[in-house]
Amino acid sequence: MAPPLALGIDIGGTRLRVALVDRAGTLVARREVRTAAQAGPAAVVEQIHVLAAELMAGLAPGSLAGAGVSSPGPLDTVSGIALGVPTLAGWVDVPIRLMLSDALGLPVVIENDGIAAAHGEWRFGAGRGLRSLVYVTVSTGVGGGVVVDGRLLHGRRGMAGHVGHMTIIADGTQCPCGNRGCFEAYGSGTAFAGRIAAEAPQLGISPDTGPAEILALARSGDASALRLVAEHGDYLGIGFASLLHLYSPEAIVVGGGLGSGLDLLLPAIAARMQRSAMPAFRDVPVIGAGLGENSGLVGAAALAFTPDPG
Ligand SMILES: [Zn+2]
Repeated sequence: MAPPLALGIDIGGTRLRVALVDRAGTLVARREVRTAAQAGPAAVVEQIHVLAAELMAGLAPGSLAGAGVSSPGPLDTVSGIALGVPTLAGWVDVPIRLMLSDALGLPVVIENDGIAAAHGEWRFGAGRGLRSLVYVTVSTGVGGGVVVDGRLLHGRRGMAGHVGHMTIIADGTQCPCGNRGCFEAYGSGTAFAGRIAAEAPQLGISPDTGPAEILALARSGDASALRLVAEHGDYLGIGFASLLHLYSPEAIVVGGGLGSGLDLLLPAIAARMQRSAMPAFRDVPVIGAGLGENSGLVGAAALAFTPDPG
């Protein structure tokens, strides 16, 4: 019988999560700790080893197909090497796939986090049944992954779909990647917080008001908060319109922390997309992710069942 379970591992800059996931995409059990982000890759591998051992204790032999890992990139998923992860100290040219397969005694598949989350949403979430979709996560940064014609796009060294780093404003705001004017520099939750701080004085809002509070104020009809949300939605719409033209998806699926405010952002996103997208692309819906914070965890585990040939 084919193994019924896989380990899903989501390495975040803040949280490290390990789960047992079944073939239907259900989280059977889950463990979470704060990522030892400053301690180097060996420490994080040891954290994963400890959590995985807890989850695997008591499983019958042959229960696990392998482990699927979602990690911030850029990762070379062909060679299994983390090339240089900005949020994790010391993660430069680290053979993470080999380190994890040695530690866990399992076959390991690694995936850039945006692609892993796109896979989760495609197989089990809001994009189930679609042939083509673009997944965009809007949180601290902007990440994503692309499914076209029924397969995940990987590209050279498995690094396709870094949608946050397409330039939308030439020589614009500094992006954490080193470039200026990236979609992430305008569309991320960090950018939203920066916009709030910059515009709060004119809008009569306390400058230390956070994005979640602005979303709550907007939900209650506050005009200043609605204006900030609309400005942010406009930038998201610029990026999304380009994604429509590039990939012709059947839907754009939005996750991440700011994705929870998608209903508020949507009017401005849609208005910009109507102006920027060619008419033939304008009927593509923008929809919320279905798996919440677990898109990447579930999507990575599912790759361990059915490693993508691409
Ligand atoms: Zn960038």
